[in-house]
Amino acid sequence: MTQDELLLHLRKTIEQVLKAPYYKKKLAEVGIYYPGDVKSLEDFRKIPLTDKEALRQNYPFGLFAEPLEKMVRIHASSGTTGKPTVVGYTREDIQLWAKIVANGLRRAGITSNDVVQVAYGYGLFTGGMGLHYGCEELGALVIPISGGNTQRQLMLMRDFGSTVLCCTPSYALYLADSLGEEGMTKEDLKLRVGIFGAEPWTEQMRAEIETRLGIRALDIYGLSETMGPGVSLECLKGEGLHIDENFYPEILDKDGNVLPEGETGELVLTSFNKMGFPGLRYRTKDITSITYGSCTCGHTGWTMKRVSARVDDMLIIRGVNVFPSQIEEAILSVGGIEPHYLIVVDREGNLDTLEVQIEVNAASFNDEIRELEELQQRLQTKIHEILNIAARVRLVEPKSIPRSEGKAKRVIDKRKEKQLS
Ligand SMILES: [Zn+2]
Repeated sequence: MTQDELLLHLRKTIEQVLKAPYYKKKLAEVGIYYPGDVKSLEDFRKIPLTDKEALRQNYPFGLFAEPLEKMVRIHASSGTTGKPTVVGYTREDIQLWAKIVANGLRRAGITSNDVVQVAYGYGLFTGGMGLHYGCEELGALVIPISGGNTQRQLMLMRDFGSTVLCCTPSYALYLADSLGEEGMTKEDLKLRVGIFGAEPWTEQMRAEIETRLGIRALDIYGLSETMGPGVSLECLKGEGLHIDENFYPEILDKDGNVLPEGETGELVLTSFNKMGFPGLRYRTKDITSITYGSCTCGHTGWTMKRVSARVDDMLIIRGVNVFPSQIEEAILSVGGIEPHYLIVVDREGNLDTLEVQIEVNAASFNDEIRELEELQQRLQTKIHEILNIAARVRLVEPKSIPRSEGKAKRVIDKRKEKQLS
């Protein structure tokens, strides 16, 4: 895309967002009243960022750019406190979304011959219906099973011959773990690809899932505020997550400056051709980097690295920035353990404490105490190497950490609970 084409797209988005009261006011603050007021990329970069908080303050429909009679669908994401964030779609938006998801799936090698088990939640959450419409657009056979009900999930996966599984990576692992209980092995299934997203995951987690289910595990990215799943998706060449051409990505440092290609920072997205709920410089809170170019799969444009962490997930422990994904990386690189863990942060006196509870596998659990102590020591050393702070590792019995059928809860920050009480 040339600079001129880009500016044309950006101006079209600005024309649409100006119909929403929230954006009209926000753009006036920087002297933008008409699309033509943005004459360069520099002008565009003066536009203030929008975040989840703006959606909450303008709850429910303050960011809608079309009247309700033009809208055909609402989705919402649950907030940690109080009101959800609400997004809306016109008929054209739903069609565009389906095309975007279908294009991504096509690059991931999914065809009309595939049987796709959509085990993301259906409902206000965008995951289930987003994938569903994309698969139908592609002509694949969809099983809209939604999340949960693991026993039935596995039975239908076998009986219907599902070839593609869509769910969170933690649920994929849970399904893999449950195979044995249902008297099945991965060989009883026809699965060949998994499209996993809605939570950050590591390369080590990918390797675990690929081995246990015998599939290729691909990452899908998106958020309801900019569309839903499908903003970007990994192709089979393993070159990263290709961003659909209907989105303009920027990477910002913590002061809001735009970073050059390849540098790591927060992803900010602007949507093109979206009518009901257009997004302009929306802060995703997701940390990644982007590059421009073409891939042998046919994609041309922006490609992002998998999201390593969320700004909100960052824990500050004894003054050190710690991301749960770093802990996952550390512990999964040591053998003899299961990819199930719980991070417990607390404060004793004035000192933050970090405890990581990690499940050992059945074989290690039967080892001598001395061998378990050695394993515990290895894990502690590895975590110290990666984080540069000391953690107490507590090995726990197989299957003792609660499993998740959706997004896994891996962190308990008792310091926050203490502040609230
Ligand atoms: Zn590619």
